Amino acid sequence: MSAETQPPLTRSEVRALLTHYRVTGHAPPTDAAVDTWLNELRGHSAGECHAALTVLQTQHHGRIAPADVIDRIRIARAHPAGRAAVPAQRRSGITRERAVAARDRGIDAVYAAMGWARTPDRDAAIGVRCPFCKANSGQACGPLSRDRLGRRERRDRLTGLHPSRLDAARTTTGTTP
Ligand SMILES: [Zn+2]
Repeated sequence: MSAETQPPLTRSEVRALLTHYRVTGHAPPTDAAVDTWLNELRGHSAGECHAALTVLQTQHHGRIAPADVIDRIRIARAHPAGRAAVPAQRRSGITRERAVAARDRGIDAVYAAMGWARTPDRDAAIGVRCPFCKANSGQACGPLSRDRLGRRERRDRLTGLHPSRLDAARTTTGTTP
């Protein structure tokens, strides 16, 4: 949707991208290479290409082809939540719930951008109420690390959820096909 409103990629942007990410190796990109890439990447914005190449550089070994970039952009477009991470709301207007929701969308966007699979554990656990911090189904766990009974739990680093919630999800949904 907003992709159409973004300015089309220009020749000098393509040259800058290829040079910056050393897509053509240490030699500067040739005019022919710039032409090819400009042609292939038509319809994608410079910002999208930057984001895609940043990700590709960290996880792609070997020569990056235009198709790799387009693939990566397609994944990012399929998860437009990533764009919601721009500071659309001024800080004063951000409620705690919105901040938590934004963080969750951010996590989703990072997973999508990195091409990581979401852990099924987290998807299942978010659907049950947290027995520790009492976060409702669908809500992320709060930062509570000690409850009224004095039990201590730290949120799991990978999922951001309390371990007892993950356990609860495993025992309630573990046997369903
Ligand atoms: Zn919790």
